Amino acid sequence: MAHSCAGTQSRLAAYIDLERQDAHAAAEQYPDIWWHLWLCESCAATYEAVHALLDAQRRGDLKPLDDIIRDSDDG
Ligand SMILES: [Zn+2]
Repeated sequence: MAHSCAGTQSRLAAYIDLERQDAHAAAEQYPDIWWHLWLCESCAATYEAVHALLDAQRRGDLKPLDDIIRDSDDG
């Protein structure tokens, strides 16, 4: 596997941010992350959680996304 979980999750916020604007562009710009999310159950779970949190963040005032990802770093 080309990238570690830590390497994937450290860039997950940027990936999701781009994906929400243009999913195709995100997959092209971060193919390693896209692929890792297919293969890694742990990172896929984090990815889904971040998506849910971003939806909540748009409605309210949750803490910054980077803090959330750092908190779940060693799952
Ligand atoms: Zn992973």
